[in-house]
Amino acid sequence: MADKNDKVPENAPGKYYIDNSCVPCNDCLEEAPKLLKYTDDESKVYFHKQPTTPEELVAARKAMEICPVEAIGDDGE
Ligand code: SF4
Repeated sequence: MADKNDKVPENAPGKYYIDNSCVPCNDCLEEAPKLLKYTDDESKVYFHKQPTTPEELVAARKAMEICPVEAIGDDGE
């Protein structure tokens, strides 16, 4: 389960985030390419934008479901 106290610092503020357990494996980027980006050093992925449209919310949910290490959370602030 993702830890909101261990977020990748670059995440845009809001409900969705990626924590520091991200590998990164790239799987989530295929589900939500409009919302997610690699950090500058490419060591993690983060939400550069929170989902707002219904389509983006579906993409964020799919990214959460596909993450093999459960690094994506939806209980952020
Ligand atoms: S699917 Fe999970 S581990 Fe893979 S890049 Fe995305 S957040 Fe990181």
